[in-house]
Amino acid sequence: MHQRYKGIPWWGWVAAAVLYVVAAAVAVEFAWNRAIDVLADVGAHRLDFYAASLTSELGRFEMVPALVARQGSVRALLKASPDEARALLPTVNAYLEAVNRDVGSGAVDVIDAHGTVIAASNWNQPLSFIGTNVSYRPYFKDALAQGRGRFFGIGTNTGIPGLYFAHAINDGDTAMGAAAVKVSVDALESAWRTPGEVALVVDGNGVIVISTERQWKFTAMRAMTAQQQLEIQASRQYAGRVVEALPYRHRGDWNNAAWFGVFPDPGHEGRTARFLVMSRPAPQGHDTIMVLLDTVGARRQQRIALAFVTGIFLIATLYALYAAQRRRVIVEKLKAQEALRRANDRLETTVAQRTAALTQANTQMQREIAERERTEQRLRATQQEVVHAGKLAVIGQMAAALTHELNQPLVAIRTLCDNARTFFERGQSAQANANLERVGRLVDSMAVLTSELKAFARKPDVELVAVSLGEAVAHARVIYASRIRDEAVRLDVRIAPGTTVYAESSQLQQVIVNVLGNALDAVRGASTRVIAMEASEPDAQGRLRFTIDDSGPGIAPDVLARLFEPFVTTKPRGQGLGLGLAITSRIVDGFGARIAAANREEGGARFTIDFAAAEPPGTEHER
Ligand code: ADP
Repeated sequence: MHQRYKGIPWWGWVAAAVLYVVAAAVAVEFAWNRAIDVLADVGAHRLDFYAASLTSELGRFEMVPALVARQGSVRALLKASPDEARALLPTVNAYLEAVNRDVGSGAVDVIDAHGTVIAASNWNQPLSFIGTNVSYRPYFKDALAQGRGRFFGIGTNTGIPGLYFAHAINDGDTAMGAAAVKVSVDALESAWRTPGEVALVVDGNGVIVISTERQWKFTAMRAMTAQQQLEIQASRQYAGRVVEALPYRHRGDWNNAAWFGVFPDPGHEGRTARFLVMSRPAPQGHDTIMVLLDTVGARRQQRIALAFVTGIFLIATLYALYAAQRRRVIVEKLKAQEALRRANDRLETTVAQRTAALTQANTQMQREIAERERTEQRLRATQQEVVHAGKLAVIGQMAAALTHELNQPLVAIRTLCDNARTFFERGQSAQANANLERVGRLVDSMAVLTSELKAFARKPDVELVAVSLGEAVAHARVIYASRIRDEAVRLDVRIAPGTTVYAESSQLQQVIVNVLGNALDAVRGASTRVIAMEASEPDAQGRLRFTIDDSGPGIAPDVLARLFEPFVTTKPRGQGLGLGLAITSRIVDGFGARIAAANREEGGARFTIDFAAAEPPGTEHER
């Protein structure tokens, strides 16, 4: 039995969702890691490049103060008296100007032991260094103390940031002064500028001195203590400005060479961006080169990976839905087939059951039929026995009646014959003849009796046609004409001319003769002697009713019930055999009609014959 297929179950969806989340997380993580790896590679290369760039671009200026320190005129100037100095100064200034021009630096100057600039390449310019005291500047201090000095700073006169290199000018073991060169880092910054990246050089104080992002310059990468701020102020390294901290947040390490930081977005004022930060010590001094790589590309990679995984999952989900739908259709189809098969099985079972029931019913019926047939046979046998017994009784009655009816004339004939013979022997032929005539009459009456019997026994096998009722009645009147006249019987006949009944002509005459004869017998002793014969109009089916009423005494009650049985009579011996109405009834049955008898309320009997339609209804009207 199939369960209803409900599609993808809830845990399938949950599993898919979990799988999706895991796959998406893995993909996003993988994309991020890969992109950051690539970024870190790029960062490492950048750092190499910046380091090399610093060495090549700035390193070459490092030699310049040392060379200037060896120059004779410079050394002479430092040793010279004020007068000599005045004479030497133009030469030294010209020399410095030439050097500055040749190496492409910002400015070259010579500083005396007190820290005052006594000669400079920009001697003839409005913001000339000459006369400026730089004794507080670390590069000068370092040069006097250690032979050389180096630092990033903002020019006190010019306000232009730059890198200062200094070298001591010694006379034996004592330092007479220092030579210094100032280099602009503008060109470097322009060369390093790359979209999506920020390159920085951070000095020993943690202050950004070179930056491809102009606004970050001279901000600190770490918080400054009050002491540090004071020292910075004193050195006027950053032209006396207060060094602000760059507002950034450390956001975890990528590895030991790189970390993530959220910095002000250089491209968008007021916004922040996440950078991969890498750093390494600069080739010279205590500086650090830093590179910040924007992680927006990595984010894009993540989004692409997420979109890719989502797309694959969407396709997979759609396919799963499609497959589930397909499966549902197949399951439905199988279910329908199964249902059909079961219905078929049920049908077969039902048919088998019904067939069995029918077979049983059939057997039962056949048994019952056989039983009926047996019963019928028994009944028929019984009936035959009854009929046989009835016949025997009738024959017995008839034999008794016949014996009685025939015995009397036979006895009379016997006596008449004996007397006739005697008359012949005596020669009295007239008496003998009279006797023989009486014998003849007696034989005639016997013949009438036997003819009646013959008529009763004869099977009425005749052809029925439309017969005129009026003619049959007229025939009976002729037969009884003398009796009607002699006995003064009034005969009322009301039959419409052309009235026909479905009968056989001679038999119809016999019926009317019988009934009219009985009526004449009945009225013979009555005071009024009236016999009325009447035929109704045929009804729609062509049936009509014929009645014969008489003014006689009516039918005796004990006779009425058995009136149409043979040998039922109330008439004295010799006048009736009781066969008339029995014969009449048989004939009327043969016409398909019915005869009935009743006593009328006003006295006398009424015989009614209901004739069947002579012809099918309708045909008469067409004729
Ligand atoms: P039968 O005339 O030989 O007696 P039926 O069968 O003709 O035989 O008549 C049977 C009996 O029916 C008669 O004996 C008579 O009693 C009675 N019967 C017949 N017709 C009439 C009638 N019109 N009025 C009174 N009784 C009748």
